[in-house]
Amino acid sequence: MSRLIRAVIDTRALRHNLARIRERTGRARVMAVVKANAYGHGLVPTALALSDADAFAVARLEEGLTLRAAGITQPIVLLEGVFTAAQLLEAARHGFDLVVHDALQLELLEEMSAAHRFVVWIKIDTGMNRLGFTAREFAAALSRVQRLQPAPLEIRLLTHLACADERDNVVTREQLTRFRAATSGLDYRVSIANSAGIFGQVQLNCDWVRPGLALYGASPFADGTGSALGLEPVMTLETSVIALRHVARGERVGYGGTWSAPRDAAIAIVAAGYGDGLPRSLPGGTPVLVNGARAPLVGRVSMDMIAVDVTELGETHVGTPAILWGRALPVEEVARHALTIPYELLCSVSQRVPLELR
Ligand SMILES: *Cc1c(COP(=O)(O)O)cnc(C)c1O
Repeated sequence: MSRLIRAVIDTRALRHNLARIRERTGRARVMAVVKANAYGHGLVPTALALSDADAFAVARLEEGLTLRAAGITQPIVLLEGVFTAAQLLEAARHGFDLVVHDALQLELLEEMSAAHRFVVWIKIDTGMNRLGFTAREFAAALSRVQRLQPAPLEIRLLTHLACADERDNVVTREQLTRFRAATSGLDYRVSIANSAGIFGQVQLNCDWVRPGLALYGASPFADGTGSALGLEPVMTLETSVIALRHVARGERVGYGGTWSAPRDAAIAIVAAGYGDGLPRSLPGGTPVLVNGARAPLVGRVSMDMIAVDVTELGETHVGTPAILWGRALPVEEVARHALTIPYELLCSVSQRVPLELR
């Protein structure tokens, strides 16, 4: 019998997606976003596969430390910066680049900058209202960074787009206008685009791009899939059928008996559940590939199992392979059934699911 659930990671597809992003962004440098365990794909193996990236970006200090411990030598950007003096010293020790998005972080740098000269990315809030200095606060923040002693290795500027996943959304243009107004006349390298910014309609000229999802081959847009953007899915979440039963019309399946067979049915029990990171809310009708053919999930998702109606399929038996998402079943499609986004499905793949590099 084939093995149970595993996430097969196609490292060639990762490299293809990076090359596709470079093709799309011309001379921009690429900061590969590998936070949240590289969106579930494995932090270290992903970074090793993306050895061609100009830098890596993570959300937390610990993620950066893991990369350095694995021998990653490229620049590593802490997208949320540091919050304590101890973290700042750690960041210095490992040569991380810092995002600075609020006054407390400025104070830390002013107090501790003798420890190290950082590449400092000043974050400007152009409308997301999450992190960053507002356009009004920015000039003062910049001059404080410019006055640091010793001077930063380099000052760079970034902002983050709130609505780039909706193509040609007017908010994106407004954010861009605000960013240009705040930074006009300044000669610093800038970064604006995430995956949606890279593949969206609005032309964003930046020195650095920050793709996350696109590297993993999925589309950030609500419609369509990564392959329409020239990307290749990196993760295939594979498992197999561990039991098969035949239920008579009217019989119920699973916790709560929420599904009853509309006709005599063949039900495959597949080894994948919310303990592996599938949302428990995944509704009946969500497609699962059984032996390469789509079949609908029925009843509730259990911790370790789901039930799939395979009545319409040919021969199914214990050990038949099943795929939750991958090349032949885009994670974007599953996300639409789950009323979520591919980001959440990919990040949620749990610790107990082994990664298998290919
Ligand atoms: C996560 C993140 C990204 C990557 O976003 P994608 O939509 O996955 O491309 C880029 N920039 C910042 C600041 C982020 O937090």
